[in-house]
Amino acid sequence: MNEAIYRKVVVKVGTNVITNDRGELDLQILDLLVRQLTELRRIGVEILLVSSGAVGAGRSLVRLPANVSPVASRQVLSSTGQIRLINTYADLFGQKGITIAQILVTKSDFRDRLHYLNIRTCLASLLEHDIIPVINENDAVSVTELMFTDNDELSGMIASMMQVDAYIILSHVDGLFDLSLDKKSPALISRIDIATEHFHQYIKPGKSDFGRGGMLTKCHIAHKLARFGITVHIANGRTPGILPDILGGKEVGTTFVAQKPVHGRKRWIAHSEGLEKGAVAINAGAESALRSSARANSLLPVGIESVIGTFFKGDIIKICSENGNAIGYGMAQYSSEQTKKLLGKKGEKPLIHYDYLYLEV
Ligand code: GLU
Repeated sequence: MNEAIYRKVVVKVGTNVITNDRGELDLQILDLLVRQLTELRRIGVEILLVSSGAVGAGRSLVRLPANVSPVASRQVLSSTGQIRLINTYADLFGQKGITIAQILVTKSDFRDRLHYLNIRTCLASLLEHDIIPVINENDAVSVTELMFTDNDELSGMIASMMQVDAYIILSHVDGLFDLSLDKKSPALISRIDIATEHFHQYIKPGKSDFGRGGMLTKCHIAHKLARFGITVHIANGRTPGILPDILGGKEVGTTFVAQKPVHGRKRWIAHSEGLEKGAVAINAGAESALRSSARANSLLPVGIESVIGTFFKGDIIKICSENGNAIGYGMAQYSSEQTKKLLGKKGEKPLIHYDYLYLEV
C-alpha cells in the first residue's frame, strides 16, 4: 500500500473482534490488527485507536464468585484486564518499533470545555510525537449514569474532537444489512448518503438492535458524525486486510458519506447527552424557527415555556419540545434565574446563540 485516502483516523475495535469464544484476548487477531495499523502508519496516516476488551481480558485473569455485584465485577475485571490489554498492544506495537500511550477517560471528562480541550491537546501532542494513543473508557471509576453508552459513543466523541477524516468501527459483522425486506439473506448496504437517505429505512424495529453497542447505536453515531463532516465506515475487524482495504478506497462494509464539516464548538455540544446542567422547554413556534433551513436562528426567550433545574452562563443545557422530548443541546448565555425572568418576552438577547446550538434530526 502506497497511499491512503485519509490522513487522520479513529479506529475502534470491539470486544467481539479481539476476544475468542472463551472471552479471552485473541492474540492472532490482535497481531493482524497491529500489522495493518503499522502499515497505515508507515505511509503517514495518523491513528487514534479505541480498544475495548478490558473486561474480557480481566475475565481470563480473575475468577469472581457469583454473588459479586455487577458494578464491582466490572470494576475488578476492567482494572485488572486493562493492564493485560495495554501490555499486549505495547508488546505487539513495540515489536514494530512503535510507541503507544494509554488514555483512559470517563464521560464527565467531556463535560467542561476546558477539560475537553486538555484531552484534545494531549491527543494532538501524542500524534505529533508519532505515538499511537490507545484509548478506552476508565471502566473502573465510571459507574454512574455518566457512563458512555459504549465504546462506539466514546470513539465518536474522540473522532469529532480530533476532527479526523474518518471514523472506522471494526465489529464482528460486515456492516449494515437491509433488514426491511425480510429476506433470508439480506443485502449489505455499502453506502449511505445521509443527505438523501436515512439508515432507518433498512432497520426493522426489534430486529436490528443487538443490545449495548448494537448496530442501531453504531448507525446513530455514524449518522451524527457524517453530519459533522466525518466519513464513517462500519466493517468486519476479523476480515484480513480490512484497514488497508478501507484506506485504499475499496468499497467494503458500510460507509456513511460525510457532509460539510461543522464548527468545533457545535461538535462538542452535540455530544452533550447526559452532561447537561438543566433544560428549557420551548413552544412549537420556536422549534420550527430553530429548524428552519432558510435562516440560522438562535433560541430566544420569547419561545421558552419553562425552565428545569439550575444552570449558569456557559453551562450546557438540554432543549425540549412542547411534549418533553429532547430535541437538542446548547450553551446558555445566562442563568436559569435570569431565563425565568425573561420567559415569553420579546426582543431579549438569545439564551442560546446559533453557533452554540445543536439540534437532533
Ligand atoms: N470499555 C469496555 C471494555 O474495555 C468495553 C465497552 C464496549 O464494549 O463498548 O471492556
